[in-house]
Amino acid sequence: MADSKGHQNLESNSDNRPLTPHMKITGVKINYYHICHTKLWLFSHNIALEHEHENVNIGKQLHEERYTRNKKEVTIDNTISIDFVKQHNGVMELHEIKKTKKMEDAHLRQMLYYLYYLRKRGIEARGVMNYPLLNQTKDVELTPEEEKNIEDDIRGIEQIVTGRMPHPKRIRICPKCAYFEFCFCGEGSED
Ligand code: SF4
Repeated sequence: MADSKGHQNLESNSDNRPLTPHMKITGVKINYYHICHTKLWLFSHNIALEHEHENVNIGKQLHEERYTRNKKEVTIDNTISIDFVKQHNGVMELHEIKKTKKMEDAHLRQMLYYLYYLRKRGIEARGVMNYPLLNQTKDVELTPEEEKNIEDDIRGIEQIVTGRMPHPKRIRICPKCAYFEFCFCGEGSED
């Protein structure tokens, strides 16, 4: 059933039943949901203009230079993709490597989704964000409150993806986004 805006009505989880997404929710979608809803919509509709940006290459290089002794990237169900996984005191640790903290919130939400995804499949884990250029790490724990927030994210993503494309709103990262020409063709970059 759809509402007046054509959005699908999503089932409530207020009685603590497991949330059953109506579409595949990948870690990338969670990330884009916290960066730009237009980007989320375009990506989810397979409008693929993404190309390898220099930052991506730097990220790969960081991974290769600093973490070669650890396991390689782990992909589960073609849905979540973790930079590397370790066991620490008998607990599974998911590690993500980031160059900066500019997108920290989106990166943390993505990690929380990984923890949520595994918990729903009976696997308890904890997360560690690695910022090698800053010489910092940050532990990430899926609390009951964060679990609820992730379920809100899932509902929000479904609302956006099943609706019309959100109108592009220019934000700081736009000039570096692969969809920039698509969103703002003819406007040019201000940066
Ligand atoms: S260019 Fe800006 S508005 Fe368009 S998808 Fe990218 S981040 Fe979003």
